[in-house]
Amino acid sequence: MVEQLQSYGVIRSKRVAEVMEKIDRALFVPEGTPPYVDSPMPIGYNATISAPHMHATCLQLLEENLRPGMHALDIGSGTGYLTACFAMMVGPQGRAVGVEHIPELVESSVESIRKSAAAPLLKEGALSVHVGDGRLGWPEFAPYDAIHVGAAASEIPKALIDQLKPGGRMVIPVGNIFQDLKVVEKKMDCSVSIRTETSVRYVPLTSRDAQLRGS
Ligand code: SAH
Repeated sequence: MVEQLQSYGVIRSKRVAEVMEKIDRALFVPEGTPPYVDSPMPIGYNATISAPHMHATCLQLLEENLRPGMHALDIGSGTGYLTACFAMMVGPQGRAVGVEHIPELVESSVESIRKSAAAPLLKEGALSVHVGDGRLGWPEFAPYDAIHVGAAASEIPKALIDQLKPGGRMVIPVGNIFQDLKVVEKKMDCSVSIRTETSVRYVPLTSRDAQLRGS
């Protein structure tokens, strides 16, 4: 899978290839789901695990902001796959924080992480996953060098911009039916620039009730 993503040019850096080899996707998909097929897969609760090429794209976009010692926030952490990758990249001196509003998904993501190469980071507290509304971010460990949002917002939540560190970068899908993957950068003078990377299709960033109703 990693070799294929490298040959397509989706993975361009050694660090991204290494982390996707170390964190085995098979531990994070539901039983009976093919782990390495390049497509999103249902994980219950009207949610999906993103396709490997989307995980790789987001890791690649955030690579510079996932250096050892940095703080990373993963909103809509779902299976916990990307949160685990972030933790491996920022290392024991860094902080990787997942926020997910379905408690059952938080629980199963923690179980998966415990079986993965990121288990020591969870144990030591450099990696944590929390039940919460990701639209509010997670102020406790802010500001963040990297923020990833794994569900599409109709607009960029202000709390997330506020929790981005000067010099930090956020990757967030924005839109309703047609969505753009936006790259948001906060400059050292706190001005914010936003550009569109590509067109995407994610599940909505919404309330828990709306998600479970499927509306
Ligand atoms: N990156 C995850 C993506 C999961 S799909 C993965 O690859 O496993 C998007 C996730 O966002 C779902 O798990 C959904 O439950 C969650 N979500 C949607 N709205 C949310 C909100 N307001 N707060 C927290 N999580 C949310």
